[in-house]
Amino acid sequence: MKRRNFIKKASATSLGFAAFSSSLVSCDANLAKKKEPITTSKILKPLVIATWKTDLAVTTAAEVLEKGGSAIDAVEQGCRIEEANENGQSVGKGGLPDRDGDVTLDACIMNEKGDYGAVLGVKNIKHVISVARKVMEDTPHVMLVGEGAESFAVSKGFERENLLTEKSKKAWENWKIKSEYKPIINIENHDTIGMLAIDKNGDISGACTTSGLAYKMAGRVGDSPIIGGGLFVDNEIGGASATGLGEEVLKTVGSFLIVELMRQGKSPQQACEEAIGRIVNKPGKDFKNFQVGYIAINKRGETGAYSIHEWFSYNLYKDKENKNIKSDYFNKA
Ligand code: ASP
Repeated sequence: MKRRNFIKKASATSLGFAAFSSSLVSCDANLAKKKEPITTSKILKPLVIATWKTDLAVTTAAEVLEKGGSAIDAVEQGCRIEEANENGQSVGKGGLPDRDGDVTLDACIMNEKGDYGAVLGVKNIKHVISVARKVMEDTPHVMLVGEGAESFAVSKGFERENLLTEKSKKAWENWKIKSEYKPIINIENHDTIGMLAIDKNGDISGACTTSGLAYKMAGRVGDSPIIGGGLFVDNEIGGASATGLGEEVLKTVGSFLIVELMRQGKSPQQACEEAIGRIVNKPGKDFKNFQVGYIAINKRGETGAYSIHEWFSYNLYKDKENKNIKSDYFNKA
C-alpha cells in the first residue's frame, strides 16, 4: 500500500515536473523566437578593433579583410604582427618572462562558428596564435598546455626559438635584485593584444595573445587564452576581448559577460561599462593598483571600450581609416 502510494506520488511529481520543465522549455523557446537577432544584411564593411596601440597589427588585419579575406584569417594575421614585434614586452618574442626567467605564452582564437582553440604556457614558439588556430582546426580538443602544446606546434612545422631577448633578460635581471612580486599591473606596462574583426560577409572572429603578467609564478595562466575571459565571440551577437589583470577578468568571466549583455540589448559601450562595474563595485575591491580594459563589437558594427583607469587605448579600423582611440574609463577621482 505504502509502496503504491509512493509510486503514485512519485509519478504525479514527475508528471508535474515534466509539465513544469516542458513549460520552461517552451517558455525559453518562445523567448528565443521573440528575440530578433541583430541584423547583418547591411554590414558588409570590414571592421577591426584591437586593444592598445596596435596600428600595424590592425592595418594588417584590415588588408586581409579588404581583399575579401575572412575575419578568422584577419585576426590571426593581425596578432602575428605583435607576436613578432620584439619591442613589445607583453606579447610573443621579447615578452617579459616569469620569475624563473622563462617566457611562456598564452593565446586563443574563436571563429564565426563558435569554434575555439587555445594554447597555454607555451615556451619556445613565437606564433602561438597560429598554434591555437591549429588546435581549433586540426585536433578534437580546445586547449593544449605547456610541453604538449609545444610538441604539437613542432609537429605542425613551427620552429623552436629563444623568446627571451636581451632587453627582456635585462629587465628580468633588474627585477631579480629585489624580486618583489606585486600581482599588480600598473597602467602603462601591458599590451596584450585582443582583436575582433567583421569581414565582408558580416562574420565575426576574434583572437587574443599574450606573454601574461611579467614575473608571474611559473605555471600562472591569466584570462587571455580562456574562453569567455580574455575573448568571446558569438557570431549572432558580437564579440569582446580583455586586457589587464587577468585574475579579475576571469573572476567575472568578462568577455562572455559583455557578449551576453549585448544579447540582452545593451550597446557594446554599455556592456563594457557594466563589465568594468562588476569588478570595481565588488565590496571592498581595491582597484586602485590594477588595470582592466575591454573592447567589444556587435553585429551592426557598433563598438565599445572601457577601462578602470585612464590610458587604455585601442585601434579601430572603420570606413577605411585606422585610428588609435583613447578609451573612456571609470576612475576619474
Ligand atoms: N591579461 C593578461 C594576463 O592577465 C595581461 C595583460 O593584458 O597585460 O595574462
